[in-house]
Amino acid sequence: MTATMFTEPEERVALRESVKRLASKYGRAYVEQQAREGGKVTELWQEFGRNGFLGVNIPEEFGGGGGGMSDLAAVLEEASAAGAPLLMMVVSPAICGSIITRCGTEEQKKRWLPTIADGSLLMAFGITEADAGSNSHQITTTATRDGDQWVLTGQKTFISGVDEAQSVLIVARTEDAKTGKLKPALFVVPTDAEGFTRQLIPMSWQAPEKQFTLFLDDVRLPHDALVGDEDGGLWQLFAGLNPERIMGAALSCGMARYALERAVEYAKTRSVWKDQPIGAHQGIAHPLAKVKIELEQARLLWQKAAALYDAGDDFTAGEYANMAKYAGGEVACNATDAAVHTHGGNGLTVEYGLANMLVAARLGRIAPVSREMILNFVAMHSLGLPKSY
Ligand SMILES: Cc1cc2nc3c(=O)[nH]c(=O)nc-3n(C[C@H](O)[C@H](O)[C@H](O)COP(=O)(O)OP(=O)(O)OC[C@H]3O[C@@H](n4cnc5c(N)ncnc54)[C@H](O)[C@@H]3O)c2cc1C
Repeated sequence: MTATMFTEPEERVALRESVKRLASKYGRAYVEQQAREGGKVTELWQEFGRNGFLGVNIPEEFGGGGGGMSDLAAVLEEASAAGAPLLMMVVSPAICGSIITRCGTEEQKKRWLPTIADGSLLMAFGITEADAGSNSHQITTTATRDGDQWVLTGQKTFISGVDEAQSVLIVARTEDAKTGKLKPALFVVPTDAEGFTRQLIPMSWQAPEKQFTLFLDDVRLPHDALVGDEDGGLWQLFAGLNPERIMGAALSCGMARYALERAVEYAKTRSVWKDQPIGAHQGIAHPLAKVKIELEQARLLWQKAAALYDAGDDFTAGEYANMAKYAGGEVACNATDAAVHTHGGNGLTVEYGLANMLVAARLGRIAPVSREMILNFVAMHSLGLPKSY
């Protein structure tokens, strides 16, 4: 056996290099400034789109790069490692792009995929509801047929990027789903549809991407707003949720790489005890070494999950996507914490831009699926323990 299975193909290595070059041109300072001033990362997003980075996973016939989730996640990891974690990549090309690619009609693919791929259309994704939370089986947003139209009623919360999006892929349940089992149906809802309103959620996390509560008040949609089959079942949803978890893990790993690099740089140059840099002390060096090990573990996990997804093994991909998301969330938290600590007082200054990352990294433990829900899943599915939730 050679070690080649642990080496990325040449094309992906080159893709990473190109992404790194472009994202570094903007860098952390740009993102932090936009976040502080209430701006967006539109310029960077559009340049990513023009260079084909946002659509690497979309089929070539629909304007994409014809690659897979392994490529898209590599793009996001590199962007994040350069200080620009593009949160909406998790949503628009990964969740929405994957679901439409796999479940959409030819017409829907032609209509939405090319613009998702070039970044000119941003599609948000809404599943979370206030009263359901982690238990998505409890969502109540309902879609009812009325002639050849659909009528959607309900509310969603914590939906990212709605102010930048032209549409939102909404997870509703069809009216006849009264068995208590989730029978999700997915609808593309334009953000300017009548009866669709949004309310900004003030967050302590300072980021260009904002979160919203959505209200759907008898929103009328054409029959072809439904993506996939009304009776298609959960797999249609997981065609998007597995990519979401893989991308969440890649984003977290990129963020951890960024934080670790800043910490190592500082630990090598900051000297307060004669000629010795602070990195010579094990109290500083060991937490950073531990983060490095955890980071390599997490990266291997998302790469494995993405490879399984790209190979069409959705079931096993789901297990590894969950584990990767867990490991990514943990290492991002540990890395940002260690980076802040290595910087001493400077770690909490605006100038060094690390303190805000503590909150951003924390997101990886909560969304899109919390650490505890992953542990529940692994205990039950991987270990065969009784269901606890
Ligand atoms: C910044 C941000 C962006 C987001 N973007 C989107 C988006 O674009 N689209 C979207 O649909 N959603 C989005 N979300 C929502 C996100 O997916 C949810 O916050 C997440 O799924 C957790 O749900 P909750 O917040 O309701 O927590 P809750 O479900 O209320 O959970 C609270 C706590 O209880 C724990 N808990 C709950 N049940 C169990 C159990 N059975 N066993 C053990 N512990 C349990 C959880 O782990 C958590 O720690 C976003 C959230 C944030 C914070």
